[in-house]
Amino acid sequence: LFITFEGGEGAGKTTVISQLAHQLESEGHEVIVTREPGGIPIAEKIREIILDKAHTEMDARTEALLYAAARRQHLVETVIPSLNEGKIVLCDRFIDSSLAYQGVARGLGIEEIYQINQFAIDDYMPDLTLLLDITPQNGLLRIESNKDREVNRLDVEDLSFHQKVHDAYHSLIKKFPHRIKKIDASFDIITVQNNAYRIISEFINK
Ligand code: C5P
Ligand code: MG
Repeated sequence: LFITFEGGEGAGKTTVISQLAHQLESEGHEVIVTREPGGIPIAEKIREIILDKAHTEMDARTEALLYAAARRQHLVETVIPSLNEGKIVLCDRFIDSSLAYQGVARGLGIEEIYQINQFAIDDYMPDLTLLLDITPQNGLLRIESNKDREVNRLDVEDLSFHQKVHDAYHSLIKKFPHRIKKIDASFDIITVQNNAYRIISEFINK
């Protein structure tokens, strides 16, 4: 079972994923928690290149291709082998991030980004995607209060960029209504986690 988590900055994806992993493991599932871009050494190196705050000259298409390259390596090295072993893979971001950030917010086009990612993922789509929905204003407020978070190149983007990401995610729900389920992430973390858990349990038991 391949489950991905999506949402803008400060939605709480990372925290929710680690809690869900504990819950699912306590029920006897084997769970792998991973993230994009990254998850394995080659993709973590690509992540460093993409997010380096010194790389202000990064071209948008270069950036999109690097995300796709990191995705490919991570998929082949971690996701597919884990799925073949019957594990539940919980992945922090996947193709929908590229469609929203590079396709819409960077203006490269959803169809174009879908095409290059199709080359990378070869039809390997998530079984289920949970969109942790939060307004950009609230998300950015949460991030500002998290002192441990490292500054990255995306932090220079203004609110309108994050608003585009937010709107793009909503249009993706319309495009993939069976795969993507929205969760209101403005509630406290326990509520968000319980709602996410309920959706996953329903999916497993259906
Ligand atoms: O999920 P996480 O916060 O670790 O993502 C790292 C950064 O990469 C974020 O600032 C996010 O906005 C950005 N990102 C992006 N395009 C993607 C995936 C992530 O701009 N496709
Ligand atoms: Mg995170």
